[in-house]
Amino acid sequence: MVKLLSIKNILYCIVLIFMATALLITCEWTSEVSTNISKESTKSPKASAERFGEIEEKKIDYSDKVQQVQISQTKVNSEIYRVTDSITKSNELIILDFKVKPGETLSSILTPINGVPYSTILKISETSISGLNFNLFDVGQKYQLVLNPLDSTLISYTHSFSKEKIIEVILNPNLVIKKVSQIKRPKTIKYNPAKSNLNSKIKKVKTIKNDKNVTKLFLLGKTNLSTNSIFVKLENQYHTKSKMYLEKQTAVSFKKMKSAAEKDGINLIIVSGARNYYSQKSIWERKFKNNQSRGLNPLENARKILRYSSMPSTSRHHWGTDIDINSLEPSYFESGRGKREYDWLVNNAGRFGFCQVYTNFKKKDRNSGYLNEAWHWSYIPKSKIYLKKYNERINYNDINGFIGSDLADDLSMIKDFVNGISSDCL
Ligand SMILES: [Zn+2]
Repeated sequence: MVKLLSIKNILYCIVLIFMATALLITCEWTSEVSTNISKESTKSPKASAERFGEIEEKKIDYSDKVQQVQISQTKVNSEIYRVTDSITKSNELIILDFKVKPGETLSSILTPINGVPYSTILKISETSISGLNFNLFDVGQKYQLVLNPLDSTLISYTHSFSKEKIIEVILNPNLVIKKVSQIKRPKTIKYNPAKSNLNSKIKKVKTIKNDKNVTKLFLLGKTNLSTNSIFVKLENQYHTKSKMYLEKQTAVSFKKMKSAAEKDGINLIIVSGARNYYSQKSIWERKFKNNQSRGLNPLENARKILRYSSMPSTSRHHWGTDIDINSLEPSYFESGRGKREYDWLVNNAGRFGFCQVYTNFKKKDRNSGYLNEAWHWSYIPKSKIYLKKYNERINYNDINGFIGSDLADDLSMIKDFVNGISSDCL
């Protein structure tokens, strides 16, 4: 029994020793893990510190990103502007847009903004840029500061003197100027309700002034070229006639075109300019009577004349905007000097506001009216206004007073001839 008990005790002892060993091993493993964790956690802050240290030492150059930033043109007119709309975080940059109010300084603008330390304000203030003063903002003008998101140092400074003139200064991380550039924007006219009444008055006055001269009689050519203020007498060197008149702006633009052509060795001279109704009537009736005597019926007669000549009251020459250049012979422009002159006009006349009115017939462009006239060019800025007015005000009853005027309707003079022009001239 004692023996049995002692064996039993021995067995108990073995089990106890085994359990104790197992416990000891487990404890030791756990302690090893926790040591590792604590090692890791002491290592981690150290690594972070190293990373932050790097930021301090090696500053990131954000200046290339600034070029994407533009001064906001949004009109903001409220007190909360500073707090809500003026700070934007874009492309990792802090962008401050502001319009300076009386008494405001850089410090008073930047101090209330969280994340812009006083040291930054000082740094910006001390940055020396010729012609610009950070401490003396111009009241009412727009400014933009772009700051580094890490340490709020200045990356760029933009001063909008006006919508058209904007100065942009880009600095490198050490606040040394990297680039100063002027951004020029095209002028834009914006609707301003406060000035709308004034504008409409000005426009009205101008329209009335134009309307006063652009009468139905003018459009029909029933005017005196030497007394009507739309026209100007052209100096002899520009034409081949004893005297010639043109619409004022047309004359100015032709002179510019002639002098440009001369530089390219091309001579331009006007062989026919403004012709009023009365001179067109004499051309028309002379041809009409001539054809009549040859036995042509009225419609055939008119159609023959209309190959190259206009019916009175339907000619663009009445307006002084249309000119015939160098020759009235189609063959002249087909080769040699004439071809070179024509090619020059095709390539350059557009720069001076001129277009060829009677081009070859093409589908969807011109399919009615006079034959191709290489010599006939029109000053579009004016002639398109006159054409518009003509279409608004003139009807077939207004075309009268000469032999064959009753044919105007049958020949669709307004639809097919007055409007039978190249789409380049519209
Ligand atoms: Zn002509």
